[in-house]
Amino acid sequence: APLIVWFRRDLRLSDHPALAAACKTGRPVIPLFIHDNQSDALGAAPKFRLGLALACLGDTLKEKGSRLILRRGDALDVLRDVIEQTGAGAVYWSRLYDPAAIDRDTKVKDALKEDGVEACSFAGHLMFEPWTVETKTGGFYKVFTPYWKSVRGRDVAEPLATPSEIRAPEDWPDSDVLDDWQMDAEMQRGRDVVRPYVRLGEAAAQARLGSFIADIVDGYDESRDMPGEDGTSGLSENLSLGEISPAHCWHAGQRAMQEGKRGAETFLKELAWREFAYHLMYHTPRILDQNWREEWQAFPWNEDERCAEVLAWKQGRTGMPFVDAAMRELQVTGRMHNRGRMIVASYLTKHLMCHWRIGQKWFEEHLIDWDPANNAMGWQWAAGSGPDATPFFRIFNPETQLDRFDKGRNYTRRWIAEGREKPSEDALEYFDAIPRRWGRRPDDDYPDPIVDLSEGRARALDAYRNRDF
Ligand code: FAD
Repeated sequence: APLIVWFRRDLRLSDHPALAAACKTGRPVIPLFIHDNQSDALGAAPKFRLGLALACLGDTLKEKGSRLILRRGDALDVLRDVIEQTGAGAVYWSRLYDPAAIDRDTKVKDALKEDGVEACSFAGHLMFEPWTVETKTGGFYKVFTPYWKSVRGRDVAEPLATPSEIRAPEDWPDSDVLDDWQMDAEMQRGRDVVRPYVRLGEAAAQARLGSFIADIVDGYDESRDMPGEDGTSGLSENLSLGEISPAHCWHAGQRAMQEGKRGAETFLKELAWREFAYHLMYHTPRILDQNWREEWQAFPWNEDERCAEVLAWKQGRTGMPFVDAAMRELQVTGRMHNRGRMIVASYLTKHLMCHWRIGQKWFEEHLIDWDPANNAMGWQWAAGSGPDATPFFRIFNPETQLDRFDKGRNYTRRWIAEGREKPSEDALEYFDAIPRRWGRRPDDDYPDPIVDLSEGRARALDAYRNRDF
């Protein structure tokens, strides 16, 4: 009987334990993706990016004489239907760790078992599954440094090769047509602008890992903080959808470290931050939508998403060039440099005193590398409400940050058109990416700061000092 490999956020063929195990049985394999209410609930940019990834995976499977079957509906209903159509006797998949996926997958597993169908889940999205990392007293880690110490020396299995053959079934089950799902429907104008910035699929991700290790990782310690440079791996969108495995990146980083490349260990550390984010999400899922530190519920956050300050932040018109450049980079590329993410998040939650969830939601709509765990941890870190967070009173100053991290102004010049005689092409593209109703034009005046930095800072610190917690 054939075997179903249920693809979710593991859209690759290499280093894919579930697929490798399926192929090893020698039975025909039916690769399946189910567009269920969880993938349907994705924000506009992640959904658009998922659509591209599915098309690409479908092509790669075709080259191997296989196919990607696409179905829409409730996961269990679809699986049962495909099993009925094909006589499949087993379903394999890679584990996910967010509460909604865990809930769905547990139900699916129990039901399939009751139906007499083998249901088997595998690792692959993470190197260190959350329950395998424990403190000395048997709890979970809340702070990164000790977490890092406990995982950095671990053996991570060498990446598995792409299966040499993915045996096709004699009869393929029905499949939807990807275009009918309209995964890009909510992207509107931004779709064509963002598309050229997408690094799509497994082959491209592996090629980028290779060139990153060859040319960039040596100086990564410093270059990773400079948003005006090509100084990071840019692999987050691929890691987020599993177009490349973390173990693949880890081993490349390890080899670079052995070759004496200076920034390699920091790269490994960043990969471990991703694992840590999943560790936190798994053990305390409330990190996704509530202040991790409960006392922060009492903080007087501004929760009015429609107020003028939030609108200016979203539009990249705060009058703070570093903040505005980063918010525009997000509109045009679907990504934002980590330094930018920290600065816009600090600015929104501290200078503007807005709830971090407003920013978290905006990122969830706009990032093509959106990741539930990394995004939630990043926002709570910046706001000060998270477990391993920057203290609230440490408030990034977007002006001094600019002098430290964008000295030559490459970054701000690249993204801001207003007030310049010859704006860069990227800066102009921003006007193609944004909704028309914002009514913005390149020859607008660049805005004055919407908040005086020292006043904003003082207001935030006052609220913090007078808090009743
Ligand atoms: P590199 O510097 O090349 O790092 C390699 C990989 O390590 C990344 O691809 C990523 O998987 C992981 N990594 C690096 N930094 C972090 C970090 N701080 N936390 C967790 N993992 C990390 N990352 C996402 O992937 N998706 C998100 O939705 C996301 N939202 C964020 C929101 C905020 C407010 C902040 C402060 C950070 C957020 N990050 C998020 C983390 C980080 O900014 C990005 O992972 C990074 O900028 C991606 O660029 P890169 O692939 O070039 O990273």
